Amino acid sequence: MEITHQDTEHLRRLLERPEQRIVILSHTNPDGDAVGSSLAWSTVLRNMGHRVTCIVPNRYPYFLDWMPDIGEIVIFKADEEGRAARAIDEADILFCLDFNAISRLEILSDTIERNTTAKRVLIDHHLAPAPGFDLLFSYPDASSTCFVVYALIERLFGTQAITREMAEGLYVGMMTDTGNFSFSFLTPALYRAVAVLAETGIDIPSLHNNVYNAYTEGRARLFGYAINRKMEVIENGTVAYMSLMEHEMRRFQFQQGDSEGFVNYPLTIKKMKMSAMFLAHRKFIRISLRSRGDVDVNLFARKYFNGGGHRNAAGGKSYVSMEETIARFVESVREFAEEGGLGA
Ligand code: 5GP
Ligand code: MN
Repeated sequence: MEITHQDTEHLRRLLERPEQRIVILSHTNPDGDAVGSSLAWSTVLRNMGHRVTCIVPNRYPYFLDWMPDIGEIVIFKADEEGRAARAIDEADILFCLDFNAISRLEILSDTIERNTTAKRVLIDHHLAPAPGFDLLFSYPDASSTCFVVYALIERLFGTQAITREMAEGLYVGMMTDTGNFSFSFLTPALYRAVAVLAETGIDIPSLHNNVYNAYTEGRARLFGYAINRKMEVIENGTVAYMSLMEHEMRRFQFQQGDSEGFVNYPLTIKKMKMSAMFLAHRKFIRISLRSRGDVDVNLFARKYFNGGGHRNAAGGKSYVSMEETIARFVESVREFAEEGGLGA
């Protein structure tokens, strides 16, 4: 990640005028990185004297409820007073955090497109950002958006601008997007950033506990059910997939976020190269993909499921039945393997 002087100066100029109306947006099904980066960035902008509204399309998972100031994030889907739409219509600047195309905001996309005058700034780490941003801080080699936000704060204001509350949000995003510091892009600079966050006095074991050990009993049982009863293995044991239908989720009192992490588990099997999870929603099936090493699920998601993401973590959607989705997946994996996508 190399942030240019030109880009930081551009951002500095953009933020120079005080009391601007700023909206911070993050993606559908917001995760720890989306929420952590939005909260930290909003604090910085508020401290500069701007009027900031953080908006997400739908609710964040319940295991993030404890995060400092999370109540200030407006959930568009539950926003009966129209606060989100008003803030977007009046915004001078729209910051887009942790996603790479307005379409990823789904139910919020049309409202965003209504505001044609606000400057659009992208702060993100997904591959292939869409056109239409006035300023891009897009670093696919950054392990999280929180790390990008950290680097921007360091550049613009110095690390002394980072309060303990901001550090908590930033740490949560870095921790969750790296699978607790076990995935790609674990650079020395990331650990230096973590050291700075630690210096603010954050309690790392409690942050870990709050996020990873705060699930319901139903979730633990659903996990067992998914792995034991629903995991299918194809391609000579190198590709796994699981599916959950709505009635199965209801049986375990499913709450949004409960299936978080399930898709990673098949990759604990030594020869596994790729893992998929199909989660039934009312109108479509959400697909989560994970892979190891050179197996590129971003490519796979783009080609077969109109999605995208990162090389080793991507997603997409399917608008046909679960049966058809799975058949299509199995067929696509076959073709992907024949073209060398699964390696040797
Ligand atoms: P998850 O499986 O955790 O929902 O998503 C993994 C990654 O893939 C995330 O970085 C997410 O932004 C991306 N992703 C998930 N679903 C979609 C999608 O439908 N379209 C695109 N472009 N990216 C997605
Ligand atoms: Mn992220």
